[in-house]
Amino acid sequence: MVYINGAWRESNQTIDVINPATGEVIEAVASVGQKETKEAIQSAKEAFKSWKKETGEKRGEYLAKVVELMKERQAELAETITKENGKPLVDATGEVISGIKYLEWYAEEAKRVYGDTVPASHPDKRILVLRQPVGVAAAITPWNFPFSMITRKLAPALAAGCTVVLKPAPATPLSAIKVFECFHEAGIPKGVVNLVIGPAEEIGAEMTSNPDVRKITFTGSTAVGKKLLRDSADTVKKVSMELGGHAPLIVFEDADIEMAVEGVLASKFRNAGQTCISTNRVYVAENIAEEFGKKLAEKVAHLQVGNGMEEGTDVGPLINKHALEKVETHVQDAVNHGGKVLSGGKVYSNHEGQGYFYEPTVIQGATESMKIAEEETFGPVAPIFTFKTEGEVIEKANHVTYGLAGYCFTKDLSRGFRMMEELEYGIVGINDAAPITVQAPFGGVKESGMGREGGKYGLDDYLEEKLVSVNTK
Ligand code: ADP
Repeated sequence: MVYINGAWRESNQTIDVINPATGEVIEAVASVGQKETKEAIQSAKEAFKSWKKETGEKRGEYLAKVVELMKERQAELAETITKENGKPLVDATGEVISGIKYLEWYAEEAKRVYGDTVPASHPDKRILVLRQPVGVAAAITPWNFPFSMITRKLAPALAAGCTVVLKPAPATPLSAIKVFECFHEAGIPKGVVNLVIGPAEEIGAEMTSNPDVRKITFTGSTAVGKKLLRDSADTVKKVSMELGGHAPLIVFEDADIEMAVEGVLASKFRNAGQTCISTNRVYVAENIAEEFGKKLAEKVAHLQVGNGMEEGTDVGPLINKHALEKVETHVQDAVNHGGKVLSGGKVYSNHEGQGYFYEPTVIQGATESMKIAEEETFGPVAPIFTFKTEGEVIEKANHVTYGLAGYCFTKDLSRGFRMMEELEYGIVGINDAAPITVQAPFGGVKESGMGREGGKYGLDDYLEEKLVSVNTK
């Protein structure tokens, strides 16, 4: 079902939602197109007139109510994520908890949209800076975090006073529908939040060309982000883009090896490597590379692959056949270029022979000529590169066009500081492979995007500063 102007709607067109662990259809959901998207934008435009005038406190109360409802439905939300996305239930539960935190945070932050008064250059003048909501925001979200990517966008948008039209990924619309059930139950005024599900290009075209949409917020691939940027140019929209990444994880010889191995496990194999901040390149100091590879491969060999609903599963399936084929291609290409598989290296076949699973894989001897060195694998494959000097590894780490997350393991404090400054990434973890948290700004540089989500910074993306100059004479 889609949700427009405070009402649920069916459609005679549907999209099948597939469970990637079994290949089975879970449900067919309503699919709509340009006409309904236009209507949703119109209703968001209408609702903006009164939503922007609500006090921040009141908007925060609505969000707090949504939080309450989601907490009651936590188990159901997590199961929905696992069924349509495949990730282990424990990770899905983690996603629900972290996703709710964004609503919780911005329920509070809604009260704190402060402006400024600025000393003027003339004795008779007064300068005020108002911070006002941008207007109707169109949000487009991916399938890898089908719940929290929605709350991370909608919470600051609504807190700031924007109204929203959301288009979730067609692979994972069920989580989005559940989010909107909570919005509906919380009594959020009609038109403030709208949900459209359907063909991406058609809906995207309406969102980018419609002059009533003042903001596009997108999380997804760099290719689609570039298209949305281009298409938004004609109506000069404000844009936030959370795009692809190609994270380096650097292990210096002075690092705590166990900690670095755990870091790779957490940042590479969680969500089966399907996150934009997943490690894509592991750079290990040459003299410890062999030992490191061995230790990592031992741990990786113990990761349990399977249906996310089964207890004990560490790594679930990839989202679809295409994703699985991409991982196969990357591993094959790495082997063809002299890479040595230390663990995994094949499609994983469960006893039913269903689903899109790939064995968690470690490849030793990775080189720059491999596809895996440049392209986002979005799968459970850790290639190990080696380096000799700090300068060399900084250069290698920064050479890609992406700039989302980078990690570095070292016990040398001075080196830690040098690395945090030198790495051209929006997010840097020093001895920390899990840096993402609600109060901190998430976002990339270079072709990984623009704008930030999280913390006090996240509100900025939905606000405009207005200069007001008053002559008191
Ligand atoms: P992925 O390759 O990870 O699926 P995409 O960038 O294709 O990443 O998808 C992220 C989101 O962007 C999804 O909601 C998808 O439907 C949407 N999307 C894909 N193509 C377009 C488009 N041309 N216009 C608008 N949205 C799009």
